[in-house]
Amino acid sequence: MELEKPLLDENKRRIDGRAVDELRPIKIEAGVLNRADGSAYLEWGENKVLAAVYGPREAHPRHRQDPTRALVQCRYNMAAFSVSDRKRPGPDRRSVEISKVISEAFSFVVFREQFPRTSVDIFIEVLQAEAGTRCAGLTAASVALADAGIPMRDLVVSCATGKADGELILDPGKEEDNRGQADMPLAVVPRTEDIVLLQMDGHLTQEELKKAMRMSIDACKEIYVIQKDALRKRYAVTTEEPVEVQETIDTQIKEE
Ligand code: ADP
Repeated sequence: MELEKPLLDENKRRIDGRAVDELRPIKIEAGVLNRADGSAYLEWGENKVLAAVYGPREAHPRHRQDPTRALVQCRYNMAAFSVSDRKRPGPDRRSVEISKVISEAFSFVVFREQFPRTSVDIFIEVLQAEAGTRCAGLTAASVALADAGIPMRDLVVSCATGKADGELILDPGKEEDNRGQADMPLAVVPRTEDIVLLQMDGHLTQEELKKAMRMSIDACKEIYVIQKDALRKRYAVTTEEPVEVQETIDTQIKEE
């Protein structure tokens, strides 16, 4: 029988060459869909995720409306072609759970009292999955919410820490998730360090748990910079634009 390759080599390098505290590469683009009020596309390692946001809009069915605040509803969905074996389309226990924890995370930051009886709807479509899709989906949805202009305390960011070959590892990849001893996704409001999502699969000691939380929070602060850059790029106004507008107005006045 062939022995499985260890997840960490003698220099504590991971199978994809990363250091134990290194993130997979992340790219985010805001405002990629014309029909949604806000949207974002995110690539995180081999994960590819699209997030669309609608609202605040009248909540349906009406009996679900809250007369004091907005509902924050999320639907996380994995495309049938997102994993190596075709995933059966439609909701399952896992996607219902992920949708629930993500909507709860955003309920904490959205100023819900400003929009009674309405709903803010978040759609997360996982196009390609390679472990860490709830973190990727939440991080993309956060940018989509900001792109939609939904008033929020701050952006939310998510990143997992796991354990492999007895060591804590930031942002576990697929192989590490399958063969590791723990996987702990966390989402945080970076400025205040309020934790709005914390889940754990596997075993960690109390000391490891504290260290893993610190690793995830620090990584979230790095990702926060990428989120803000994506939003800045989307809303950056080039200096030429207002000049062009002014020139058009001047020409119109002259012609009149
Ligand atoms: P997360 O994607 O947030 O890490 P899980 O820990 O439940 O959530 O899943 C880990 C990974 O397992 C996913 O990112 C995906 O690559 C894979 N996976 C999840 N569900 C399925 C499925 N139905 N079929 C094949 N692979 C799946």
